[in-house]
Amino acid sequence: MSSEWRSKGFCYGDDYFDDVDMLPSHEPAKSFTAQSMCKGCPVFKECAIETIRLRDVGVVKAGKALGYGNKALSQYNELRVELGLPTVRVSDKFNPDLWPRDCRHCDRSMRPKGQQEMLWPNTIEARSHDLCMECHNRAEKSA
Ligand code: SF4
Ligand SMILES: [Zn+2]
Repeated sequence: MSSEWRSKGFCYGDDYFDDVDMLPSHEPAKSFTAQSMCKGCPVFKECAIETIRLRDVGVVKAGKALGYGNKALSQYNELRVELGLPTVRVSDKFNPDLWPRDCRHCDRSMRPKGQQEMLWPNTIEARSHDLCMECHNRAEKSA
């Protein structure tokens, strides 16, 4: 994918975006600052798609002060909603919204069962709430 769009972003050449620790440490000032920094950026959409695809953490991107771990995962989901990507329907009583998530066995990043890879780049389809297709099938075969 071409990344020519980057030079059109407000953040181009601005180190202030590179580290969320430069932002106010408390919420909601932190989120608000990140939001204001990207507000009106002409390449917001491209940036949001890339953020989800690369799973960026710890930087300001697409109007978010991206955190780590579960925090980042829910921020990617917020971006998915902003982009109008299909919302995820999964029956998982623990964490209904946290996708992508890791396969318990191979640690690969999984997308919800039945979803297309196009919408969840670089993921493998889940078979159950914590196992990917492949690991699930392998487990069945060896049973
Ligand atoms: S949305 Fe924000 S992080 Fe993304 S390109 Fe624009 S200014 Fe940079
Ligand atoms: Zn697996």
